[in-house]
Amino acid sequence: MPSSQIPVAVLGATGSVGQRFISLLDNHPWFKVVALAASDRSVGQKYADAARWILDTPMPEYARNMIVVPATTEAVQAKIVFSALHNDVAKDLEPQFAKTGVAVCSNASSYRRGEDVPLLLPEINAEHIHLVKEQRKNKGWSGCITTNPNCTSTGLTIALKALVSMQALSGAGYPGVSSLDIMDNVIPNVGNGGEEEKVEWEPRKMLGKLNNNRIDLANIKFSAHTNRVAVIDGHTVCVSVELGNSVEPEVAIQALRDYVAPLSARELPSSPRPVIEVRDEADRPQPRLDRLNGKGMTTVVGRLRRDPILDLKFVVLSHNTIRGAAGGSIYNAELLVNENLL
Ligand code: NAP
Repeated sequence: MPSSQIPVAVLGATGSVGQRFISLLDNHPWFKVVALAASDRSVGQKYADAARWILDTPMPEYARNMIVVPATTEAVQAKIVFSALHNDVAKDLEPQFAKTGVAVCSNASSYRRGEDVPLLLPEINAEHIHLVKEQRKNKGWSGCITTNPNCTSTGLTIALKALVSMQALSGAGYPGVSSLDIMDNVIPNVGNGGEEEKVEWEPRKMLGKLNNNRIDLANIKFSAHTNRVAVIDGHTVCVSVELGNSVEPEVAIQALRDYVAPLSARELPSSPRPVIEVRDEADRPQPRLDRLNGKGMTTVVGRLRRDPILDLKFVVLSHNTIRGAAGGSIYNAELLVNENLL
């Protein structure tokens, strides 16, 4: 635990993920929000006027009167910046912050594939955080960039490999997909720029091994379908998996229930409690009923059964803007602090 609160900022603070950051950082025991940044559209306005609040919890008091600043290293003075920027903007801005000594915890995909950039799910691959030492050496930065995966890769990787996923509306940001397009509908293309490719590649890095300051990708093949569905929050992934040896469903369920995070990621303020919850009911998990389990950080698995062609099949639910975005980045930042890597 740090001796005093660490100053942090949110880039893209007015958007869908940015609002989750504002909410999850309210009364955070280690972090104090000192700056909120967004585009020219919002700069100079009070946060309460600039953001069209879309969460079902009230806007935290601390943020209401903060004046939105530009996302520049001059305007944002913090030790950690949480980036909820789109990829094109993040690509340009995040290295500028890392260069000036700031730890960037990013939701954007711009640097996820970087050989010296950790792609983190602390409850699975906390040791990958040590790649930041290599990154600092390679780039000459005193800060660093860490990333969290695509919000569908998240639940999938924690509970395993997907074939078909159904993605909530908030995954498209705000205002996202028009209601006339999505009501009474399923759109068989998520259109966020290579969504299926991200789901097919990112788990290989996260399940890979840290070896001599680089990640050896896990030798696993994925095939993914991504669909946009009329759900506000919570990504559902339907998974069929071949494990190479036949595993009884009861044994797999017990293994999921028994899973604990690596020691360094177990007792942080945002650690999911539990990491994985397995539901026994035949009709769970459901986004509306289960997405806020473990404060939105728990991965919920259900319908685990034998697959007639592969080995097992099951359904995974993960909150896309909490575990899959803002909550995940805050968890990564806590790990950086815990490992003395800030
Ligand atoms: P969003 O709702 O569209 O919000 C985008 C934010 O970026 C807004 O605050 C916007 O500010 C700001 N912005 C735009 N251009 C900017 C600029 N030039 N300089 C500074 N700020 C700028 O997007 P989102 O859904 O929150 O997604 C943010 C990032 O998280 C994306 O990279 C996305 O892929 C990733 N992500 C999203 C999810 C999800 O479920 N939504 C999950 C995981 C990862 P203004 O309001 O002032 O325009």
